[in-house]
Amino acid sequence: MTSATALQLLHDTFGYQAFRGRQAEIVSAVTHGDNALVLMPTGGGKSMCYQLPALLREGVAIVVSPLIALMDDQVANLQAAGVAAAAVHSGIEPAQLRQIADDIARGVLKLIYVAPERLVSDKFIRFMHSIHISLFAIDEAHCVSQWGHDFRPEYQQLGFLADEFPNVPRIALTATADEETRADIRHYLRLQDALTFIASFDRPNIYYQVIEKNNGKKQLLQFIKSQGHSVSGIVYCLSRKRVEEVALLLKENGFNALPYHAGLDMAVREENQKRFSQDDNVIVVATVAFGMGIDKPDVRFVAHLDMPKSIEHFYQESGRAGRDGLPAISWLCYGLNDWVLLRQRIQDGEAEAMQKQIELQKVDAVLSFCETASCRRQLLLAQFDEASEPCGHCDNCLEPPTRFDATVLVQKLLSCVYRVEQRFATSYVIDVLRGKSNDWMARLGHDKLSTFGIGDTLSDKEWRSVVRQCVAGGLLSINLSYNQALQLTDAAKAVLKGEQSLWLRPLKRDKKSGLSTPATAVLRTEREERLWQALRVWRKQRATQDNVPAYVIFPDRTLQNLVEAAPQSLAALDGIYGMGSSKIDKYGAEVVALCQDIAAEEHRTGVLSDSGL
Ligand code: ADP
Ligand code: ZN
Repeated sequence: MTSATALQLLHDTFGYQAFRGRQAEIVSAVTHGDNALVLMPTGGGKSMCYQLPALLREGVAIVVSPLIALMDDQVANLQAAGVAAAAVHSGIEPAQLRQIADDIARGVLKLIYVAPERLVSDKFIRFMHSIHISLFAIDEAHCVSQWGHDFRPEYQQLGFLADEFPNVPRIALTATADEETRADIRHYLRLQDALTFIASFDRPNIYYQVIEKNNGKKQLLQFIKSQGHSVSGIVYCLSRKRVEEVALLLKENGFNALPYHAGLDMAVREENQKRFSQDDNVIVVATVAFGMGIDKPDVRFVAHLDMPKSIEHFYQESGRAGRDGLPAISWLCYGLNDWVLLRQRIQDGEAEAMQKQIELQKVDAVLSFCETASCRRQLLLAQFDEASEPCGHCDNCLEPPTRFDATVLVQKLLSCVYRVEQRFATSYVIDVLRGKSNDWMARLGHDKLSTFGIGDTLSDKEWRSVVRQCVAGGLLSINLSYNQALQLTDAAKAVLKGEQSLWLRPLKRDKKSGLSTPATAVLRTEREERLWQALRVWRKQRATQDNVPAYVIFPDRTLQNLVEAAPQSLAALDGIYGMGSSKIDKYGAEVVALCQDIAAEEHRTGVLSDSGL
């Protein structure tokens, strides 16, 4: 099997012109029977790494996948590309199951998707021994690890495949894997000798924007409005109550918004998830319960209205934007209160002391990420031990915050914390600094302190920024067991003694809601815009008719490519992104007709205006 045939399949079946990253190497290795471990970010193109070998090898490929929604999505996509694939799960009727078994026996099916629970059952193992298997693909392989966030115990049993089917290549794939998780994958899946392919975890098409919270809901609304009404997005919030409120707010403002959290009925959740994946302008407002199983490629933004609990969570969640490679935005709004709340939750939680310590550190790392004046992407990638240059495509790179010498301000703050004996919370300390006395303060004599009123040139908000930066910079801590009192760390001493100067980010930012341009700021001519809209309407109709998500018909990227190329014949469809032969057969004529209509219309109006009307 040569790579030319793989490339040909990539083009003819899937309509792509070239391999991405290390896809070619991976496809070639697995096709030749090697085992592989593939780490690639979301949207990197993992599926192709086993789908092409499945088509190139004899027999049927067995793909282990943790969620029914994921399986159905993949199968719909494959079928739309003309590949014989099926999913085997509880939602499949017995008659269909018999048909699938029959198709496998006849050698017609190329891929079947199955949940790990089923795969490890005696019955299924017997069945597997009776058929010819081309390869095993273990998708979302991080589920094997207890360290990860989607632990599934059955994944740990999958190592038996190595013994029972020693001649069948196995490929494990995931988008999340720190070193511990990788070790778990190798160990439990018996992939110690597998070739390992680690792609860069950069998501260059995602723009990162972080803003300070100051009436978060209003800021969110402003941000979403700037993105227009016809895009899909996800908003993450920390609590169910907030999810409901925000979904309502967006609805009231004319957005197609749906809530999603674990407190909703299963049926409602499924329905909302389905609408999100099928339509092309739904905004899901969710707790983190909404996550895995979202294969939707055209999510244009992911907004975090509250601070995520770790950088890993943030990377995974924001990574659900822009799988299609088109421009997308990650927008994050944070405040010190979020941080306090997250820490409080951990401290009040059931975990062991050691575990709590780890989680607290993770939350602190998020605060540092939010407060940093350096490149956001560099910091994110460092999380995966990946070194990189400043990206030029995040808020800090585009508008580098000019730091100022804040040594005196910080000294004022720190000494005020000291004067009130490290027993008071942020707002009280700021009141003392700004000279805002009240009865209580007077009774404690704090209006007589040397630090009383020495900070009246800054607003409350500006002082909060100083506090946050001091907390993120390790000069102050907040005692959650005592009033959320601000306390000095050892590092604060040097600053107090004047041995160290301190530079901070500006305390005010110009932009309140961040970006005002939509993620995809494509400038279209009037003709292009008409064609774009016509294609979207057509896609929606076809999707409803075929009962598949809109993007299974064609992703946005294909529509954009069609708008640019405006093909006037079937032959001109060759080379359009995502136009494999099956899709050309199925939809080619309709798409070309639409392009011709719009061109003809332009011609007519062009002729009219030429005649002077
Ligand atoms: P992952 O599973 O890694 O998140 P997918 O396999 O879903 O990513 O791929 C993301 C998108 O990129 C899909 O729409 C897929 O069809 C597309 N894709 C994959 N490989 C290529 C390629 N070589 N050229 C163009 N598009 C590709
Ligand atoms: Zn950057």
